[in-house]
Parts: sequence; C-alpha cells; structure tokens
Amino acid sequence: MRAARLHGPADIRIDEVDDPPDPGPHQVVVAPLWSGLCGTDVKEFTGHGGSVAATPHPLTGACIPLILGHEFSARVVAVGPNVDDVAAGDEVVVMPLQYCGRCAACLAGRHTHCQLKAWTGLSSPWGGFGDLALVESYQLTPLDGISALAGAVVEPAAVAMNAAMRAGIGPGDSVFVAGAGAIGALTVMAARAAGAASVYVFDPNSKRAEYVAALGAEVVPEDEPARIAQFLRDRTGGLGVDVSMDCAGKPQAMTACVQAVRTGGKVGIPAVHPGSIPVDVRRLTRDDLTIVGSIGYSRETWEKTVRMVRAGLLPVERIVTARIERDQIVEKGFVVLAQPSHEIKVLVQVNR
Ligand SMILES: [Zn+2]
Ligand SMILES: [Zn+2]
Repeated sequence: MRAARLHGPADIRIDEVDDPPDPGPHQVVVAPLWSGLCGTDVKEFTGHGGSVAATPHPLTGACIPLILGHEFSARVVAVGPNVDDVAAGDEVVVMPLQYCGRCAACLAGRHTHCQLKAWTGLSSPWGGFGDLALVESYQLTPLDGISALAGAVVEPAAVAMNAAMRAGIGPGDSVFVAGAGAIGALTVMAARAAGAASVYVFDPNSKRAEYVAALGAEVVPEDEPARIAQFLRDRTGGLGVDVSMDCAGKPQAMTACVQAVRTGGKVGIPAVHPGSIPVDVRRLTRDDLTIVGSIGYSRETWEKTVRMVRAGLLPVERIVTARIERDQIVEKGFVVLAQPSHEIKVLVQVNR
C-alpha cells in the first residue's frame, strides 16, 4: 500500500509499504477517508517537533520513518475476533489516542496521561495518511450521521472541547480566544456550544481572525496586549472577560489572556508553548485568577464531542479551508502550512 511517511525534518515521502497484517483480537483494519493536517505534523516537518517516536515506542514499537495522520475518518475493511461493535463497510471516526486502560492515569479517566499512551499517526506503525491502518476497536466510533469530512475534524474538536470544559466555560460567559488557528476556531465553537454569550477572537492575521469570527465571535481589532485587554474591558462593562483561552502559544497572547480576564476569572491554555514565558504572577494572586492547562482529551470528552458534532452543536466542517489529494500533501499541505498562511484546516483525501 501507499502512505505518506515522515523520515525526518522537511522529509515527507509517499512510500510503498507493507499492508497491515490480518487484524488480531479486538483489532480492525480501516481505510482512511479524510485525514487532517495538524500543527503537530507541521512542527515535525519544520524540525520543531518532538511528538514522533525517534526510538521504538514502549506500547507500539514504532519509530521513524512513521506514517503521519492522527485526525481522520475511515471505512472499516476487516475486523478481528471479538469485534462486534463495527463491521466491514461501516464508516467511523478514529480516536488516535491509544492507552493501556490499566495504569493509575487511565483508571482516573486521564487517558492522555496514560504511562504507555501512543498516538496513531505519531507514535504507532499506522496513520491516517496510509491507504490502510490497523487500529484497536476501542478507537472507533461510528460516524452515524456525521459526514466523513466532518469526521476528520472531530479530533481537534475534542481537544478544544476538553480545554473549554477544563476552563469551565458556561452559560452567559464572556470569552476571549487568542489565536485563530484550528484550535482557536474550534474553541470559539465550543464556547458557543457551552452557552457563552459573547466570544472575542484575536489573531495577528486579520483574515484568519475574520474567518473565525464568522463562526460566532467578534474580532478584537487591536494587536498589543494592554490594548486588547482595554478593548475587552470596554466590551464587558469594565470588568474583563470571564474566561481567556490561549490558543496561540505566543508570549504576547498569554500576556493578553492574563490581562483581559476579570477578577476571579480563568485562563485556559490548550496551546503548546515552545518554552517557558513570564506571567504576571502578582495579578494571579491579587485578582484570584485561575490558570488551567489542558492537553488532549479523556475518553469521556471524546464521546461527548462526537455526540455534539452529531447533534449539530459543533459544525466542525466549517473550519476546513482547503481539501487536497494525498499526492499534493507536501507542496499544497506541509510547505504551505510551514509559512504564515490563511489556512485554518487542510484536509487530505486518502480514499474515496
Ligand atoms: Zn492534531
Ligand atoms: Zn494507561
């Protein structure tokens, strides 16, 4: 079969590789349909990564060259023994997170922190940019009314939902979202779905900010943290927003998030910053702020996200700004996204 594989920085190749073996107990072979390009993939391409396994992974044994693609929908091709919840021909969304189910983190419901966790498409032998992938049956949820295109956006939507729920966004809240990439866009949607009354978005790229604002937010027309905060105080009766979400991962964005939040407010950080940055700790203490980091999602958040997409509460396909063929994945995908770009989410069609 053919697959797009990461060999190292700036080295993605469409390779001929072996098909997956027949599925074992609880395993399923799927054919990826639509598969999203993620900032995590792009960081591996530009050499700023660290998410792929360079040495054999303890759970999966995989290391580079690796098939990428961890945000994808798929059609079931073959099921192994003891698989009775999906059958050949079913269309599914694949949860890339693989976990042991037995460690302390798993038992506490914090699956992203499983001691043995792996990600299909980053630290497994299989990924969404291959003709076929071998996955565990617990990773599959039937699309059941969700389009295959939208199914490929469920994974980043689960990341945004997890961040929004961890930050406690609720009915009537005012929310500031810094960063209008895919996670920023999906966080705007998640905040709306959670009942936020007003959502504000900032991105230095005004085109992206306007695109994301159309999902249910107002653009913050300032670009410097103190002015962003002042704009948001003006919008909220002088108080500041209830919740800020750092979806940008830049020091300026984090500063704006801390300055823009009201006394007693919360700052959620789904963005992965490249290093440590200064934060106004004095303001955290004096104004009773809460900072909430978040990574990935739990099994529970995953299922809730699927249900919300199915119910039409998260119209995730609206963040898709480009659809490309797998043969175009380098020049129309990685190369474009490695530069400053207007794209929010690029999806790759792997099988029809
Ligand atoms: Zn991703
Ligand atoms: Zn575990």
